[in-house]
Amino acid sequence: MPKEVITTRAKDYNQWYLDIVREADLAEVAEVVRGCIVFKPTGWAIWEMMQRALDDRIKETGHSNVQFPLLIPKSFIMKEAEHVDGFAPEVAEVTRAGGEDLTEPYVIRPTSETIIGHFYSKWIRSYRDLPLLYNQWCNVMRWEMRTRPFLRTSEFIWQEGHTAHVNEAEAEAETLKILHEVYADFAEQVMAVPVIRGLKTENEKFPGALRSYCIEAMMQDGRALQAGTSHNLGQNFAKAFEITYTDHNNTVQHAWTTSWGVSTRLIGALIMTHSDDEGLVIPPRLAPIQVVVVPIFKNDAEREKVMATVHALTSTWKGVLRFKIDDRDNLSPGFKFNEWEMKGVPVRIEVGPKDVEKGSVAIARRDIPGREGKSFVPQEGLTERIRDLLEAIQQALFERALRFREQHSADVQSYEELKVQVERGFARAYWAGSSADEKRIQEETRATIRCIPLDQPGTPGICVYTGKETTQQVIFARAY
Ligand code: AMP
Repeated sequence: MPKEVITTRAKDYNQWYLDIVREADLAEVAEVVRGCIVFKPTGWAIWEMMQRALDDRIKETGHSNVQFPLLIPKSFIMKEAEHVDGFAPEVAEVTRAGGEDLTEPYVIRPTSETIIGHFYSKWIRSYRDLPLLYNQWCNVMRWEMRTRPFLRTSEFIWQEGHTAHVNEAEAEAETLKILHEVYADFAEQVMAVPVIRGLKTENEKFPGALRSYCIEAMMQDGRALQAGTSHNLGQNFAKAFEITYTDHNNTVQHAWTTSWGVSTRLIGALIMTHSDDEGLVIPPRLAPIQVVVVPIFKNDAEREKVMATVHALTSTWKGVLRFKIDDRDNLSPGFKFNEWEMKGVPVRIEVGPKDVEKGSVAIARRDIPGREGKSFVPQEGLTERIRDLLEAIQQALFERALRFREQHSADVQSYEELKVQVERGFARAYWAGSSADEKRIQEETRATIRCIPLDQPGTPGICVYTGKETTQQVIFARAY
């Protein structure tokens, strides 16, 4: 039965999302700081897990972490024309400090291409200095008009990678490597979130980029979420910040740069991909706690017996499973079950006096609530069984999300069909329209081109809007 504190998804999806954020102890809206949130323990623990898995991939692909200042001289932001236009409305400024008006205001970084560009121009001299492969984990600020916890906040936490290369081909290879080997791999393998890898249209690309790639995921209400972006910045920032190098022939060239980021928005993607009316659901590879053990007893004698079994069963788990023994005295087992269900722990083990006698335990799967997900198994071989179960849950969640996306995606042949399909999910359409056509469609349907998938059918078709023949397919959807 759905818990009363959580609005069902069917009743009000937006309220359900906010209820999960609150009840699973993920975050609280910081009502005193516009558009910001406070990360609470469950939310922060998930972010730490995300950070770790992403950071491993970032380092495995050859990048080092660095840290640049929070404040950027305002004049820097003004140097790249598209960048200024794109970010000006969202930038917060610091104009006064130390009791005085500043001669040059600072902006609070909305992203760091400009200040990093300034330093890269000092650090890069020759082709031998390239590629330069740096990343930073930090908070940024964008004065967003409409905000929602994790999905769109004024201050958010992310990583931003910034690299410089000798030519376009290397910058492009880097941009795609991050998209595939870091972002898509993390989303699918760790978060169990299937993603479409694609290119953004001119309307949707990053201000100042040559090309923006993205991973797009479908949420349970059929809307799209841009889960990560990887930009080939061409020579735009290199020209604005004079990032030059001397090549093999002693000729001075502008470098080619990239930037790429994923943010705490991923926690929103996690919630809206897997969770249900009972609370949060976290895939095992991401779960800060994979297994919770709840001992059940009525008196001290039972407690002693049960706890001895619990300790024996879990004695080899350290470093093998991320687990917690919930031996809090003052709370009933039912209360504990609810709490861990709400917080999305993938597997619950119950051990009571009868289990001690029978040499068994009860196992409950979070991804299959209720009786169907519960089984009684022998204590012998429990560790192996749990490890297998965690893998099975990881796969099941990915497959369920993929099935959902497939069931809510359709090819559309006409604008009329497109309008209907974006009410329920992704519309795949042939597209040969202009940026103005895309904007008109957005005004009429609230759907945008989420991306031009890298996977293309390769056969020609008729553009859904202009009627022209084209080989290019795109995904239309309403997005968060
Ligand atoms: P961008 O620099 O605009 O390409 O964004 C990089 C990453 O940050 C993308 O994965 C976005 O989904 C995410 N992002 C952008 N704006 C916000 C925001 N206001 N709150 C949370 N995440 C964001």
